[in-house]
Amino acid sequence: MALQKRRRGPTRFRQQRSAWMKKSGENHMMVQPCPSCGAPRISHRVCMSCGQYRGETIIAKKAADE
Ligand SMILES: [Zn+2]
Repeated sequence: MALQKRRRGPTRFRQQRSAWMKKSGENHMMVQPCPSCGAPRISHRVCMSCGQYRGETIIAKKAADE
């Protein structure tokens, strides 16, 4: 039995990838203020300012040692 070579051609694939990139930019990078330090932080990510996520210190910062 013959198999389908590909579902979409390169143009349709690029159009779909453009939609993926748009979606990832808008929905997956929601910036919210950090609950512990108040700096702008991407939601569901470790805060790059204080290194905390859900009340736990994930990244040890130099500021904590000083
Ligand atoms: Zn923070």
